[in-house]
Amino acid sequence: MPIINITNCPICSSSNTSKAFDAVDHFSTKETFPICDCTSCGFRFTNNFPSEDSIGRYYDSPDYISHSDSKSGLINRLYHFFRKQMLKKKVNLVSKQVGPEQQLSQKALESKYSKKTKSKDNIRLLDIGSGTGYFLNAAKERGYTVTGIEKDSNARDYAITNFALDIKDEQSLWSIENDSFDVITLWHVLEHMENLNEVVAKINSILKPDGVVILALPNHNSHDAKKYKGYWAAHDVPRHLWHFTPDTVEKLLGKHLFNIIKQKTMPLDAFYISMLSEKYRGSGSLTQYIKAIVVGTVGYLLSLSDINNSSSVIYIAKKARK
Ligand SMILES: [Zn+2]
Repeated sequence: MPIINITNCPICSSSNTSKAFDAVDHFSTKETFPICDCTSCGFRFTNNFPSEDSIGRYYDSPDYISHSDSKSGLINRLYHFFRKQMLKKKVNLVSKQVGPEQQLSQKALESKYSKKTKSKDNIRLLDIGSGTGYFLNAAKERGYTVTGIEKDSNARDYAITNFALDIKDEQSLWSIENDSFDVITLWHVLEHMENLNEVVAKINSILKPDGVVILALPNHNSHDAKKYKGYWAAHDVPRHLWHFTPDTVEKLLGKHLFNIIKQKTMPLDAFYISMLSEKYRGSGSLTQYIKAIVVGTVGYLLSLSDINNSSSVIYIAKKARK
């Protein structure tokens, strides 16, 4: 199996890296992978992970719900409930960042859209890692012109069949022309992508000059990460290659000429990740939920005053002015 061994930090290129600990693939194989830190810039990454061509089998599990629609089991049912709430929040978040409504008051907005006018159809949205297409469909229903990129052919087919969406394969990203999109979203996707720098650079070039990129990423400095340590579900090795914090995201985006304009907490992620972490730790089913609610609530409250406590962070960035 081809293995990717990283000797230089993907963000700052320093060769000063050291192993932080061995993380277990709790989700699927129970194999361990070293998690390393760059001692120069603090970036954390999984090392010796399977290459893009061979990592597929680590995603093969009936439990992998990112791309499935299983509604059995409490975790899956909660996931579907959360997803519905999150879809609404995500599209609202996009609407706040792009388009004419940026300048309009809420009252003006309400009257503008009260007759179900779809005046956003000239706003082009690209979702990278669009999965089964629920987010893109919600954005389409709100009038955006949407395109998705998805590596998994089953998920792609699902989105095309169920929502008639325009979804392309992973390679299509590289043939998108410059200045094509007003908004590009990656919801928990960048941490999975092997060619990190190339992807962020490409996003910068295909984004229009005033466009926004919205990235959601786990934060390994969060309250729940510190609480669960080796059992923290968002380490998710070897599927998560890169482990971010607000500080290292700023460094990565700055390197590719982006300025972060806003950071937001994702409270539901804290509960979901805590619940999975409790499961990996072997807590009984009832204690699992109670403890996860406690950890998730404390983390959420702490994140209100300091984003560094947030389990996942949404970063909203714009291109730096040349
Ligand atoms: Zn570094």
